[in-house]
Amino acid sequence: MRKQIAAANWKMNLTLQQGEALLDAIIATPHSLNEHQQAIFAVPFPYIAMAQSKLAGKKNVFVAAQNCYSKKSGAYTGEVSVEMLQSMGVQYVVLGHSERREYFQESNQFLADKVNICLDYNIHPIFCCGEPLEIREAGTQNAFVAKQLEESLYHLSAEQLQKIVIAYEPIWAIGTGKTATSAQAQEMHAYIRSQLAAKYGDGVAANISILYGGSVKAANAVEIFGQPDVDGGLVGGASLIVEEFAAIIHALKK
Ligand code: PEP
Repeated sequence: MRKQIAAANWKMNLTLQQGEALLDAIIATPHSLNEHQQAIFAVPFPYIAMAQSKLAGKKNVFVAAQNCYSKKSGAYTGEVSVEMLQSMGVQYVVLGHSERREYFQESNQFLADKVNICLDYNIHPIFCCGEPLEIREAGTQNAFVAKQLEESLYHLSAEQLQKIVIAYEPIWAIGTGKTATSAQAQEMHAYIRSQLAAKYGDGVAANISILYGGSVKAANAVEIFGQPDVDGGLVGGASLIVEEFAAIIHALKK
């Protein structure tokens, strides 16, 4: 069974003290992850060390960065390199979140560079893709997402691709409270998997975790995660609420 993942994306939220309290409360919530399940906390850069120390020794629980730069090192004031993250023991980095694509003009090509440098340092990208509302309304979401995958990922070898987690996040559902229906999520996830299969073969495609993101909450997680090609979720708002995120972890396929 491929990995089933509940990934929290704190975005630019919480003070250090609030982040500590949130992790303390989540740790105190009884949950057990089996060998196919993971919980990942994508916290702001300044909180990575704190989160690692809080979550140390917790099985199948990881701390992720929300971004990284595409260059190894150098005069890039304010940026954070993959080498820095690796030296801290970070194993996952969220790449290509729609907020970064929109507010920081991150292109598919730029993201391909970030994917490459993450893989050079053996860090797993959680690669986000997904269409804006006007594309969904025009019915061209498959071609839109296929292009994102092609331009950022399809230069990779099959071995490299298997280190990637994909997160399908329809932009119209992020932070809007408007969730894709489970049928819409399944349809796109199956399409993404079919595209990966066409390029890399069925065996590779079957092993890649594809997360859904977009207003996942306790009330809809069981149904969405229950879809055959949905392998968990990337969760923004609800990951900041202890009971919500605990229930979302619990909703992962067993
Ligand atoms: C996200 O941050 O990737 C996200 C899906 O946010 P939300 O769950 O708040 O829609």
